[in-house]
Amino acid sequence: MSVVQNLASIRKDIPSWVKLVCVSKFHPESTIMEAYNAGERIFGESRVQELMEKQERLPNDINWHFIGHLQTNKVKYLVPFVELIHGVDSLKLLLEINKQAEKINRVVNCLLQVHIATEETKFGFSPEEILALYQSGTISNLSNIRICGLMGMATFTDNHQQVRKEFQSLKALFDTIKRTYCAENDCFTEISMGMSDDFQIAIEEGGTLVRIGSSIFGQREY
Ligand SMILES: *Cc1c(COP(=O)(O)O)cnc(C)c1O
Repeated sequence: MSVVQNLASIRKDIPSWVKLVCVSKFHPESTIMEAYNAGERIFGESRVQELMEKQERLPNDINWHFIGHLQTNKVKYLVPFVELIHGVDSLKLLLEINKQAEKINRVVNCLLQVHIATEETKFGFSPEEILALYQSGTISNLSNIRICGLMGMATFTDNHQQVRKEFQSLKALFDTIKRTYCAENDCFTEISMGMSDDFQIAIEEGGTLVRIGSSIFGQREY
């Protein structure tokens, strides 16, 4: 099936309040343009160098989301244009994003990545670490970062019950933070969860941003 057909079929499963991030990593600009011409404007990339090259050459009304593991030494390249950084997973990274954003007088949108999977290889804060960041006032002191919500990746498994439980744990943490620390502001609104294989479950469990790659663009060639 073509990118346009894939998108049409995925769009049917995504309600209007959920945003689709088209994960275009490893795919060429011509393929991205097929999705762009079909109306998509949010694209997700996971490598800084690749994102920079694509951003320069593709239309400037694309909202670029960074979804990969970000190294602190690369933050300065993203900060001028990135719309949302999904996977912020350490205090060191938060401080660096804030510092680079301050230099250019920008407020950068970020999601805190939570480790919800059983695999140890996936990145992210524990729920306790995130609550401590809020409790201590660390988050509110980062004046050039807007924390828009949370991001998580479920365990890679066919066990749907397990995936669902992991998404539920992310939603529960989101609700706690929203109620306890963000009741007065309306910027803590996003839960980024769900990929090609599990986005329907993620939407049922309250996801607001789904990150879909292979179901739109086909298999990646690494
Ligand atoms: C690659 C990637 C995706 C997309 O995965 P698909 O299974 O191709 O939909 C989503 N989220 C993150 C963080 C990724 O790295």
